[in-house]
Amino acid sequence: MSSPAELPILIAGGGPVGVITALALARQGLRVHLFEAESKVNDAPRAATTHAATLEMLDELGLVDEVIRRGLVEPLFRTWDRSTGELVAEFDFGRLKDDTRYPFAVQCEQHKLANLAIEKLRALPHANLEFSARVVAVAQSNDSVEIKVDTAAGTRAIKGSYLIGADGGRSTVRKSLGIEFEGYTHPERFLILTTPFDIGTRYPGCTRNYLSHPQDWCAFFKVSGDDGKGLWRVLSSTRLEQSEAELFEADAVERRLQNFIAKEGKYDVVHRNLYNVHQRVAASFRKGRVFLAGDAAHVNNPIGGLGLNFGIHDAVELSGLLGRVIRREAPSEVLDLYDRHRRPLNIEFVQQQTVANKRRMEEKDPAARARNFAELAAIAADPAAHRAYLLRASLLESVRKRAAA
Ligand SMILES: Cc1cc2nc3c(=O)[nH]c(=O)nc-3n(C[C@H](O)[C@H](O)[C@H](O)COP(=O)(O)OP(=O)(O)OC[C@H]3O[C@@H](n4cnc5c(N)ncnc54)[C@H](O)[C@@H]3O)c2cc1C
Repeated sequence: MSSPAELPILIAGGGPVGVITALALARQGLRVHLFEAESKVNDAPRAATTHAATLEMLDELGLVDEVIRRGLVEPLFRTWDRSTGELVAEFDFGRLKDDTRYPFAVQCEQHKLANLAIEKLRALPHANLEFSARVVAVAQSNDSVEIKVDTAAGTRAIKGSYLIGADGGRSTVRKSLGIEFEGYTHPERFLILTTPFDIGTRYPGCTRNYLSHPQDWCAFFKVSGDDGKGLWRVLSSTRLEQSEAELFEADAVERRLQNFIAKEGKYDVVHRNLYNVHQRVAASFRKGRVFLAGDAAHVNNPIGGLGLNFGIHDAVELSGLLGRVIRREAPSEVLDLYDRHRRPLNIEFVQQQTVANKRRMEEKDPAARARNFAELAAIAADPAAHRAYLLRASLLESVRKRAAA
């Protein structure tokens, strides 16, 4: 337990990565103070797919049973050729039964995960959570950090031992440190349309489907929804010149959905969300006593469902290193390992994989498409290759590589 006189670890951002970092630190008895700019957790449809490697970590944090209970367990995912309607490959995480206690993915919306972590934090007296509190400035010395926080009552300064910037892709903390966000932004945006229509009646037996197409690719995922009745998210790509108003217009939404899955009667659409898509990694995940985690450190396209998973792995690694240094079990130099491990792992296991996933979905060259499909089908048909592919897709391989480092 840290002494009451010890300065708290400050966290900017109460998204899933910020709150899980706070929980992983507070469970070690360390004082944390988290600041979230908004008045509550953002419940826009973003991450849902939680992979085996992450489920193992959520188990350590006492969260996994509730995540499974409030989510949907899905061992399979499928890739289709939308231009022919043929199934290209089916992958089954069940093949990892000897590699993990969780040989499946769980579709659990990220706001549920964040709220679960917050419930646990509220029970810990040394964890302080402040909503409607925006971090606007960052300074540090050799032995402390100081941030300025804007609240309804005005701006105040708060001192801490360390600061973790978990304040998302547009991170104020990252910008305050002058750290480059290296990479690029895709020229198109991704649209998510959420409907209660049961797409499972058309794509039975699997709730994670990727449909490749040279012009109009799409992906369908089921989530349980806040009432547990089930919702389907339809992800597709848009052109940059298409405005939000044009894309969200009722007839345009209806045409898009009918084009993907024609059905009688109109679609009921409960959410429309548009996202910019980036592949970027911060030039460094640390400067002195300040660290970056989650989307503040790296962003990627969502195909494969890896961004938040990797952000949770950041949270677990960073909280472990900080705990050892604060308890004086290790010298402060071990904190260098955070950037040294996480940055190359993100490039190898998240950036490269999501870029390849997106290319496979949208490939226009018929010969390259045929090659991609043949390769994927061959991997799925070969037990050793199938397992190796899933070890990467579930991030278990990245965790093993890290453990061996
Ligand atoms: C369509 C879509 C689908 C996705 N699907 C998946 C998936 O299936 N699996 C997966 O692993 N990932 C997925 N992702 C990625 C995932 O959503 C992100 O990686 C995740 O939200 C990152 O969490 P975070 O806590 O780092 O950042 P955020 O969720 O962006 O949270 C940052 C928080 O910081 C707050 N904040 C910002 N600035 C400040 C400030 N100055 N002071 C205080 N607070 C601040 C914000 O209000 C916000 O609450 C998807 C993303 C999208 C867009």
